[in-house]
Amino acid sequence: MTRIVSYFKSLLLIELAQGLFLTGKYLFRPKYTVMYPVEKLPQSPRFRGLHALRRYANGEERCIACKLCEAVCPALAITIDSEQRADGTRRTTRYDIDLFKCIFCGFCEESCPVDSIVETHIHEYHFDKRGQNIATKPQLLAIGDRFEAEIAARRAADAPYR
Ligand code: SF4
Ligand code: SF4
Repeated sequence: MTRIVSYFKSLLLIELAQGLFLTGKYLFRPKYTVMYPVEKLPQSPRFRGLHALRRYANGEERCIACKLCEAVCPALAITIDSEQRADGTRRTTRYDIDLFKCIFCGFCEESCPVDSIVETHIHEYHFDKRGQNIATKPQLLAIGDRFEAEIAARRAADAPYR
């Protein structure tokens, strides 16, 4: 039955008519331009902006150098080196993200088992000099430290849908 309905829907171009009706509805309404950067549109908690590395509340970095994010990155933008610490745990000695290569797909964030690498709400940034496109581990940790409250709040807001 569903297939018959969808067949007749496609035959009568109902969806096309619905789309045109919606376009027509807005055609004569007053237009509004968002005056960016003074005005900004609301942002989803899932917004994928500049990356950050997070720490636990005790200050210990979350990343366990499992390299899942490096493996899953379709743009090969992440480079990780790691070594074992004196206490037997493994940590990264290098964690670089090439922001020129990154396509902000969010796969690194999705793959991380400890919620370490995340993409923040930050999208207003620029580079002045060659090489600044490489976000290093200290820089990523500093972003995480600075925006931890917002990162945690956004992840909590999105948690029911994950
Ligand atoms: S957002 Fe996507 S492209 Fe960018 S570093 Fe993460 S996995 Fe790679
Ligand atoms: S950021 Fe997450 S996925 Fe990437 S190496 Fe660290 S723990 Fe593994």
